[in-house]
Amino acid sequence: RARRLEKALDTPAKIYYKYEGVSPAGSHKPNTAVAQAYYNKQAGIKRLITETGAGQWGSSLAFAGALFGLEVVVYMVKVSYNQKPYRRALMETYGARVVASPSTETQAGRSILATHPNSTGSLGIAISEAVEIAAADEQSKYALGSVLNHVLLHQTVIGQEALVQMEMAGDYPDLVIGCTGGGSNFAGIAFPFLGAKLRGERDVEIIAVEPAACPTLTRGKYAYDFGDTAHLTPLMKMHTLGSTFVPEGIHAGGLRYHGMAPLMSHVVALGLAEARLEYQLGCFAAGLTFARSEGILPAPEANHAVKAAIDEALKCKESGESKVILFNLCGHGHFDMQAYMDYQAGKLVDTEYSSAEVAMALAGLPSFG
Ligand SMILES: *Cc1c(COP(=O)(O)O)cnc(C)c1O
Repeated sequence: RARRLEKALDTPAKIYYKYEGVSPAGSHKPNTAVAQAYYNKQAGIKRLITETGAGQWGSSLAFAGALFGLEVVVYMVKVSYNQKPYRRALMETYGARVVASPSTETQAGRSILATHPNSTGSLGIAISEAVEIAAADEQSKYALGSVLNHVLLHQTVIGQEALVQMEMAGDYPDLVIGCTGGGSNFAGIAFPFLGAKLRGERDVEIIAVEPAACPTLTRGKYAYDFGDTAHLTPLMKMHTLGSTFVPEGIHAGGLRYHGMAPLMSHVVALGLAEARLEYQLGCFAAGLTFARSEGILPAPEANHAVKAAIDEALKCKESGESKVILFNLCGHGHFDMQAYMDYQAGKLVDTEYSSAEVAMALAGLPSFG
């Protein structure tokens, strides 16, 4: 429970957070990385190929690969590769090979570089590269760190634990909040509570928070789309900004994905969760408030959830309601100090998605006759 934050905000709300930053990689991602590496090892696979945005998934899979003696190759979005050398170093410490994407190692990478030689990359492009390499080698498998059903399933350990911990605290959340990139940490904390709601046991309000620079749930289209830029993945029905959309280089790298988990999209379409967007500066301000009261420095992605939790607690202050708020603190920001330095130096700006670019990317959605 964030008692010192409650005090700092002078709110009658009770604020709880589930902290996933205590894992070796510093986020919730090992919850699925370890499971995926385990099952691949059981299946006789030698090598896992993947992509990473901010580096958290790559670090988690590199860590999991080391546990089970699997080789790991990571295509890392170029803007992060340059912005976050320590994430890269962590992956290499665990024994992974890290390649800046778009790269010249794949057809997908070479074709992007031919038209956009200065491309800073995107998750969609990096996924194409990883899938292309994995598909060409029998002993390799592709591993994805978010979006897919099995990933969301593994992550529900977050909510399962939170249910028990809330019981230990003698409370139950009125509000459950999480940030959404591909939807896995959010579904992880929210789905077990949603299950209780759908079974008619306890009502709960659920809020998904995404960056204004990549507003998949709030401004995207709910349609069949590819998960990657080169269109190698199966089609998924999801909220999407278009598979060729390259979002602004905001610091919450883990939230820069054009699509959303189909299960998450479904839940939002059914009206079971509210989606809202937040701007980068407000999120960093919230992160600082949290760090100064609770001592934990949140990842820039997690700051989106912190911001919404603080906003909801301040609403309680106005209305006098004492709601119980639970949010997922999905990771620490120890590898994101450049982002915090830039924020404190006044170098960050609020960026919105470019509607012209989204329109262009959405025009390329696959159509069915
Ligand atoms: C990867 C990551 C995210 C975004 O992915 P989701 O699947 O939406 O959870 C958010 N926060 C952190 C700390 C991450 O590592």
